[in-house]
Amino acid sequence: MRRLMILMPGVVLLAGISALAQNANSASTKPAASVSSFDLTAIDKSVDPCDDFYLYACGTWLKNNPIPPDQSSWGRFDELHERNQTILRGILDKYSADNPGRSAINQKIGDYYYSCMDESGIEARDAAPLKPAMDSINAMKDKSQIPAVLGGLHRGGVKAFFDFEAQPDFKDSKVDIATADQGGLSLPDRDYYFKTDAKSVELREKLEKHVAKMFELYGESPEKAAAAAKTVLKVETDLAKVSLDPTEQRDPTKIYHKMSVADLQKASPAFVWNQYFTSIQTPTFDSLNVAVPDFMKGMNQIIANNDLDTVKTYLRWHTLHAAAPMLPKAFVDENFDFYGKTLRGAKELRPRWKRCVQYTDGDLGEALGQAYVAEAFPPEAKARTLQMVHELEAALKTDITELSWMTPETKKQALEKLSRIDNKIGYPNQWRDYSSLNIVRGDAMGNSLRANQFEFNRQLAKIGKPVDRNEWEMTPPTVNAYYNPLENNVNFPAGILQPPFYDYKADDAVNFGGIGVVIGHELTHGFDDEGSQFDADGNLRNWWTPKDQEQFTKLEDCFVKEYDGFVVVDDVHIKGKLTLGENTADNGGLRISHMALLDVLAANPEKTIDGYTPDQRFFLGYGQVWCENQTPQTARLQALSDPHSDAKYRVNGVVSNSPDFAKAFGCKPNAPMVRNPACRVW
Ligand SMILES: [Zn+2]
Repeated sequence: MRRLMILMPGVVLLAGISALAQNANSASTKPAASVSSFDLTAIDKSVDPCDDFYLYACGTWLKNNPIPPDQSSWGRFDELHERNQTILRGILDKYSADNPGRSAINQKIGDYYYSCMDESGIEARDAAPLKPAMDSINAMKDKSQIPAVLGGLHRGGVKAFFDFEAQPDFKDSKVDIATADQGGLSLPDRDYYFKTDAKSVELREKLEKHVAKMFELYGESPEKAAAAAKTVLKVETDLAKVSLDPTEQRDPTKIYHKMSVADLQKASPAFVWNQYFTSIQTPTFDSLNVAVPDFMKGMNQIIANNDLDTVKTYLRWHTLHAAAPMLPKAFVDENFDFYGKTLRGAKELRPRWKRCVQYTDGDLGEALGQAYVAEAFPPEAKARTLQMVHELEAALKTDITELSWMTPETKKQALEKLSRIDNKIGYPNQWRDYSSLNIVRGDAMGNSLRANQFEFNRQLAKIGKPVDRNEWEMTPPTVNAYYNPLENNVNFPAGILQPPFYDYKADDAVNFGGIGVVIGHELTHGFDDEGSQFDADGNLRNWWTPKDQEQFTKLEDCFVKEYDGFVVVDDVHIKGKLTLGENTADNGGLRISHMALLDVLAANPEKTIDGYTPDQRFFLGYGQVWCENQTPQTARLQALSDPHSDAKYRVNGVVSNSPDFAKAFGCKPNAPMVRNPACRVW
């Protein structure tokens, strides 16, 4: 799995779950409307902003916007996501008609969507499209055949045992190398397999029932299905034992272990790697990044110590699991029952069109994205965003230059890194070429399978080649953004460069509180606990003096302690260390966006509007981006496994560290929204 520093959890990345089987945290049943960037009616004036700013900025919105039944959370991001989805639906409705005049890419997106929407065709084929994959598993006669069969499954998007892809070499980031990483779990991360509290125990029991039910739907007897589910849980628990937790995975030194293929083979004799490489048809290479060596040793033990039937059962489960969204309704409903309802707290399955829009975006994102950009992202929006990025970069430069805790030596390095951050805005300069991907009208599962193969082959083709830094890891309609430490670039998809983040009709103060902080957040990721370990070239190299390193760690510890203290639901706390990078980026992003706003206001003063000063509107613009209702299940899931803090604390945790906020709202030094001492790194 890629480790990018993103703005927020969008589609939650469940370890071991293919793009197909994710339960997107998105969209609702509401009609599309434009989303306003600053909403007076969202404010709860009965709350003192110095007591609880989140409740002040969002209180009335939270009351008036319950979570729609097909969602597990509902926030202002989701309003925008919903609007983007509706635009995409319009595009796909248009191109799904079987019109010979369609361009090649419009045929692909249109026929993909048509096939996905064709529920009666999917019902009629039942589970037959799974047969070739299942047959390949069942036909194995001895364990030596596992690598070849697993290779075929991986190519089709089945996420069993481990992930295999191309990634820049951490220490020579201009070149892509092969990367084998931990994977193969059905729950969000390793800890879910070992926690002994009642909720965790119940979740594992429900997963076991779900696995059994899926096997039954595929035709196994209830007894056999129940036994198979036990086997799956047993294998996954053994994999979890040798997996890193999400906090450990944020440490680049823990996930970079370049070794020769020969050494990897020595460490895992029960799995013949060359047979796997032959099966996936990878270009030849001598060394690769084995992200988590202990995981591969553990996988080897699992294969060595269990009989072939155990491995077959585990592989059959992941094959079923990955395919679930394109199988008949009974499978889709059962998949939702566990991953949507039990795990995330959603009440209803999203309507089919929303799911099919999501899958089209997932499999043909840069084809669908072209039509989206034409409709929703004019060149002026791109130019204005670029201008704001430059304004934010200037503010961060001033901020670094004026820091009291950093020595001139390290500042020089930091400024060099900042000056070389590349800005990517809206959409790729060159669109992905899908001409080799065959989309067949009426073959939903086949289209999904071929799209997975296309993507897998695209990854493999990169091995040993120079890194293409123009490539995007998110599709244009995505409501999110990221910093890539290995490429030292910031990426803002067109999907987020819209209200409520950026509104050309709104005043600067509100826009700097919205998209300005997003830009600042991504820039700051280059300098958080993880990003700061990479240099201007994107290489894992320490550019800090020991003294500055020590100071930095001390200042970061303030954030760790602060966020450790926040309770999300029941007795579940935010994990200060897991969320450190995101919290650093939120706090730094807000500060530099406010600095940039002051620069702009100095040249172009703004007046008080609706009774709020420009400073107040800046903080309200920021706070209102995060208005969000969440089910307790989703809040728990996010706190346990996601590096992003809960929305409420992304607001209150940040503004309470900001002297500018206290000044803007006239908060007294002992007010709850004024931390003493305040935490600050950047
Ligand atoms: Zn982030």
